[in-house]
Amino acid sequence: MAIRILPPQVASQIAAGEVVERPASVVKELLENALDAGASYVSIRVEGGGRRLIEVADDGGGIPAEELHLAVHRHATSKLSQAADLERITTLGFRGEALASIGAVSRLTITSRPPQAAIGARLRVEAGQAGPVQPAGAPPGTLAWVEDLFFNVPARLKFLKSENTERRQIEELVARYALAYPRVRIHLYQEGRLSFQTSGDGEHRPVLAALYGVEAARQMLEVLAEYDDLRISGFISPIALTRSNRRAITFFVNGRWVQDTALTAALVQAYHTYLMVGRYPLAALFLELPAEKVDVNVHPAKAEVRFRDREGVFSGLQRAVRRALMAYTPLPELGALPRWAPVEGAPAAAAGREEEAAPEARPAAEEAALSAPAGQAEWSAPRAPLLRPVGQIALAYLVAEGPDGLYLVDQHAAHERVLFERFMALRGGPIPSQALLEPAAVELPPAWARLLAEQLALLEKIGFRVEPFGQNTFLVRALPALLAGSEPAAALRAVVEDFEEDESPLQSEAEARIIARVCKRAAVKAGQSLSAEEQRSLLLDLEACQSPRTCPHGRPTMIHLSVDLLERQFGRRGAR
Ligand code: ADP
Ligand code: MG
Repeated sequence: MAIRILPPQVASQIAAGEVVERPASVVKELLENALDAGASYVSIRVEGGGRRLIEVADDGGGIPAEELHLAVHRHATSKLSQAADLERITTLGFRGEALASIGAVSRLTITSRPPQAAIGARLRVEAGQAGPVQPAGAPPGTLAWVEDLFFNVPARLKFLKSENTERRQIEELVARYALAYPRVRIHLYQEGRLSFQTSGDGEHRPVLAALYGVEAARQMLEVLAEYDDLRISGFISPIALTRSNRRAITFFVNGRWVQDTALTAALVQAYHTYLMVGRYPLAALFLELPAEKVDVNVHPAKAEVRFRDREGVFSGLQRAVRRALMAYTPLPELGALPRWAPVEGAPAAAAGREEEAAPEARPAAEEAALSAPAGQAEWSAPRAPLLRPVGQIALAYLVAEGPDGLYLVDQHAAHERVLFERFMALRGGPIPSQALLEPAAVELPPAWARLLAEQLALLEKIGFRVEPFGQNTFLVRALPALLAGSEPAAALRAVVEDFEEDESPLQSEAEARIIARVCKRAAVKAGQSLSAEEQRSLLLDLEACQSPRTCPHGRPTMIHLSVDLLERQFGRRGAR
């Protein structure tokens, strides 16, 4: 066959194929146009999984009647005018292809009215053939109507998945954009039913709930970090919450949803040893950086981007994620520490009781094990040695010099101890409480709610003000001053988390346990950098404690490396 230039109809169908792959691509392009037009409300209607009808209405800036015929023309856009503009694109659209592509493979009707225009205009395109622009009554904004998608491209139609699959794709897509644009009110109707909606109030969690379920949304950790001109925000799952595929990972770069395997890999790497093989985190992360540092003009569907400073972006992402994980990941509890074996020769049946006896014995035995070479006298001393701060390592341990060698202090455990003793000292009198500006309603799993309801008086005694508020829901009015600034829901959950194990504890014991939990929540975390001043004052506070050697849960706060031990380790002893 001789070489020929393709007829325009065929060429435009081929080009359209790259932009409009399936119904969700149409929704994406129309939604992006609405967002680019500054809409505060977008309503989307889908029939027949998007094959019969996709309708997107917005209250944005509209298209002037005299420009309407251009809007559906290929490479016609109002969003850039010269090649240099491509270097710094701040809109979602810029290629001027979407409406032309959609018009090439469907029956497209656009009705639009800029708010200042007295009357709107309408234009119909069928399989790439545009009709005349006609005046039409319309509210301010734009209404795009896409009927019979792919009616003229049977090959495409054949490869479409089931209506259900398409509906799910559309819903996920809309929810993702809703997450990135929480200030835009979005309604999605599928087959006449409202299937997804946001209020446009700027809140992320309800959208997360729609995407990942209520329970997962509740657990998601917030990420917020800035490195030079890179800003990273959003939500990631804690290490215990994973999925078997990467589909719950979403990235937005400057407000644009991108599917970038390298970004996903960087995220998964940040979880590193925390995840089992074949498990993936959930994430919705928003990267913002100056427009000229991202090339968005990589692919017709605009789903890929290139970063000018790839390494910088990836390492920033990993740092931000690691920081969030470290800040929220609970330290291993006592139970997670290795237990020593039951006494040799003990009958197997007794082993269980042996284990139960262990907790009381543990601190002393642990201390002995830790300081064995230095002699146990040091560890039985009730008070902490006077410590001179040297510095901080791994954002988790303070290094200090003491009277006899080197001390490593676990900053979180130490702070927990300090807070715990302060709290206990206040007991009996009123514990300082801070009222919330706005009471927060917190919903708990039913089992927790029942347990919490029994402990309300106790919570009151330590500075909480919590009242029942409908089924499984509580209204938090005040927090212990120690927890001021914490998210009320997280603070409350920290307190009830292990009520289950407590069953019916003695009141005095329950109180101490709850206080310990509150302190754990309020204490500085591993991963937090402490200034020299903060290090010094933490060590001073620890010195003042009654039981400085362990945290309220019984873990050691410090490890001692004596001069003697150091000398032997360095081979100085016995060398001469
Ligand atoms: P692009 O978004 O890349 O510019 P499109 O084909 O999606 O290309 O749209 C072409 C043009 O039509 C846009 O540049 C814009 O000026 C106008 N337009 C499309 N949709 C809307 C809308 N919902 N509101 C206002 N203007 C719109
Ligand atoms: Mg567009």
